[in-house]
Amino acid sequence: METDTITAISTPMGEGAISIVRLSGSEAIRVTANLFQGTNLLEADSHTIHYGKIIDPQTNDVAEEVMVTIMRAPKTFTRENIVEINCHGGMVAVNRVLEIVLEQGVRIAEPGEFTKRAFLHGRIDLSQAEAVMDLIRSKTDKAMSVALKQMDGRLSELIGRLRQELLETVAHVEVNIDYPEYDDVEEMSHEMMRKKSKEVHAEIEHLLEVAKQGKILREGLSTAIIGRPNVGKSSLMNTLVQENKAIVTEVPGTTRDVIEEYVNVRGVPLRLVDTAGIRETEDIVEKIGVDRSRQVLKESDLILFILNYNDELTDEDEKLFEAVQGLDYIILVNKTDLEQKLDMERVRALADGKPVISASLIKEEGIDELESAIADTFFSGDIDTGDMTYVSNIRHIQLLKQAKQALEDAVASLEMEMPLDIVQIDVTRTWEFLGEIIGDTASDSLIDQLFSQFCLGK
Ligand code: GDP
Ligand code: ZN
Repeated sequence: METDTITAISTPMGEGAISIVRLSGSEAIRVTANLFQGTNLLEADSHTIHYGKIIDPQTNDVAEEVMVTIMRAPKTFTRENIVEINCHGGMVAVNRVLEIVLEQGVRIAEPGEFTKRAFLHGRIDLSQAEAVMDLIRSKTDKAMSVALKQMDGRLSELIGRLRQELLETVAHVEVNIDYPEYDDVEEMSHEMMRKKSKEVHAEIEHLLEVAKQGKILREGLSTAIIGRPNVGKSSLMNTLVQENKAIVTEVPGTTRDVIEEYVNVRGVPLRLVDTAGIRETEDIVEKIGVDRSRQVLKESDLILFILNYNDELTDEDEKLFEAVQGLDYIILVNKTDLEQKLDMERVRALADGKPVISASLIKEEGIDELESAIADTFFSGDIDTGDMTYVSNIRHIQLLKQAKQALEDAVASLEMEMPLDIVQIDVTRTWEFLGEIIGDTASDSLIDQLFSQFCLGK
């Protein structure tokens, strides 16, 4: 298979010191061999690494000392010849090498083009390709490991198994209809089909439940800081941002009405949302009442609720307690450097088992305890990052929901004793929706759209 050769800078995960110029395509090895002073790369075995120098053919200067990895088609990520030129001299050196490679007639890769080739050559399926995209975008280590797992194909494997079960069910019905004389094929009954549909339905439901965690890991735990005026909301936001390297700070547009700060608290990605609507909750409770504020607060995954140690509990505090009932929250009693006026017994009673942390933000006390409480809240319970198939992709979640709905339609038809060949239509639709997750029935335009979102070099 002839393919044009593409290249890009592709920096490996977690290795800041090394940058890689990656080439993929029929000419990848030949082009590199022409630039390389060292062993003869043309004769190098696949999956071997070679020390040498990249020479600029125009000047015969040594551009960079490198380690070159040779990988021959088809056992590579793209199923084409791949060369990775590992440079260790920083961005200047790596750019120079890239420039020299480009002068040999190699084309710069479009964003995501390596991954697209891997997909088109059948090396990975669509959900794996999307996992690469998530990996590139993932903002924390946790999110990264989720993306990696998905890339491992766990989701694909599970989806593949579910599809197989549906397919067998459909095939079974077909056989019954087309070959009624086949006595040795047991007749598919409504009961059997309902059982199968419900089994697959339960698995999809589970995937969707867990999907929420995947989303959290990828996008951060949406976190609201609430409390009366002057309790220390802004101080807490600043403390969290300063203590924990902010991962991303986005100020979309010029309106500045929503500012999101990403912080990484002990591996838990928090998205601190600072909006007029959420953070200044004291206002909403006043204006729109407890029920509506609850609605607003429900959008958060975590609520940090601040009280003032130096003040008695007010009506407003009590209303906030009402508004956070049943949600995930942590109480932060701030200003412990001042005289106690707050009834801590009462606070603990209202908190109803939720963590109550004492702090003085101004003296930087209690912050460790707060961070531990945040990590505990998140990692306690059933979040087991080692043993779960996460779905962390919006498109996948939508398709899973559609698949689930189609199965519910099938079950409803079964309960109305509809003929099996009618029910089968819904089962087939489920099979198709699941297929779209792994790219089996995805249209070309969808694929192009997905790959165009990739970053360069992947
Ligand atoms: P917000 O209105 O809830 O956002 O509260 P701010 O974070 O703006 O803080 C209000 C005031 O309380 C500021 O003057 C802070 O310096 C002060 N403050 C914040 N934390 C503490 C604390 O732990 N102890 C004391 N004594 N003052 C604090
Ligand atoms: Zn404030």
